[in-house]
Amino acid sequence: MNASTATKREFGQNDLENRHEAALAVKRQALALGADAVAIGSIDRWKGAPTQMDPRQIMPECKSVIGMVFRVMRGSLRGIEEGTYFSNYSAMGYGGLTYLYIPMTVINLSKFIEDRGYEAIPYGHQSDWRAIDGDGFLGKGSRPVAPGRAAPDVMVHLRIAAYLCGLGEIGYSKMFLSPQFGPRNRVGIVLTDVDLEEDPIYDGPQLCNKCMACVKACPGGCIPADKTVKVNLAEKEVEWSDIDMDGCNLTFRGGRKSEVEVPPEKQYIDEGADTVPGSWSPFNHKPRNLYNTGQAVCGARGCTRACMISLENRGVLQNKFKDKFRRRKQWSVDWNEAPQYPADAIFRKSPEGLDAD
Ligand code: SF4
Ligand code: SF4
Repeated sequence: MNASTATKREFGQNDLENRHEAALAVKRQALALGADAVAIGSIDRWKGAPTQMDPRQIMPECKSVIGMVFRVMRGSLRGIEEGTYFSNYSAMGYGGLTYLYIPMTVINLSKFIEDRGYEAIPYGHQSDWRAIDGDGFLGKGSRPVAPGRAAPDVMVHLRIAAYLCGLGEIGYSKMFLSPQFGPRNRVGIVLTDVDLEEDPIYDGPQLCNKCMACVKACPGGCIPADKTVKVNLAEKEVEWSDIDMDGCNLTFRGGRKSEVEVPPEKQYIDEGADTVPGSWSPFNHKPRNLYNTGQAVCGARGCTRACMISLENRGVLQNKFKDKFRRRKQWSVDWNEAPQYPADAIFRKSPEGLDAD
């Protein structure tokens, strides 16, 4: 054999005929490619899924969904926790994972499967073309190509997929919680027509104990304590808070609605009417996106940081640290105080690099 023309298939150790062996081979490969945890859900667990979120709409012959957890490093939250370095979470813990690291892994895992004669669809966070919004409603941008088919693009719910693969729980905050990292995860999946041995739905130590730390710490009050959504997943009722998505959309970028009219040049977010920086943002104008979407100024103060602190204090997470995460009093910015930079630098005329998109 000429090594220079050899394909990966010729170096393959396993065919994927035996579902137990195939699952082990696929999981081994996923971890080697950079996933932090991997588990498999059989496609029948998506029975009853809304058409626009059903993986079978993308791949009718799909037999297995391979779910992978990618950790958001605790260190990527450090700069926001200290109030001094915000871009790292948006870049390394958000957009970089979404647009670089997860695609690399799911693409390479899909190649591993395709080199063995089965089809595989790498599926990450990108949902820019989706026809449904964050609340699951069908948008107006596309139409089904035939009766019974979803309108393009189907959006598989990744947190639910992680749950159905057995990777962990969905917490009260609606964040996916893994036993390794709590809420510090992003999720990638591969859909495939290989019949892989499935993992059980997560049944390990309880992660979410409804401590409500997420509710109390969300700066925009976007996680209601008394309004929930119940969903049936693989014949089990799962409940989470009915998140105020619009509120989060403004709050997580560091903004809040102003009670008074705000002149255009002083808007915190250009597209939002009358927005000003909240006490959880040190920026006078929303920083531009990183890797297309990363703009998480709030640093997931409630749904990730407060939750992680709560879970770490209870000792239920596998990723242990020598020192606790919160080491100093939480900061907040009083925007009524005199600004500490020149008057002409305030608001839209922000420091270089902080201009609007
Ligand atoms: S902060 Fe508490 S209630 Fe909220 S998701 Fe985490 S464990 Fe559950
Ligand atoms: S991202 Fe921020 S605003 Fe949105 S729910 Fe989490 S803590 Fe609240």
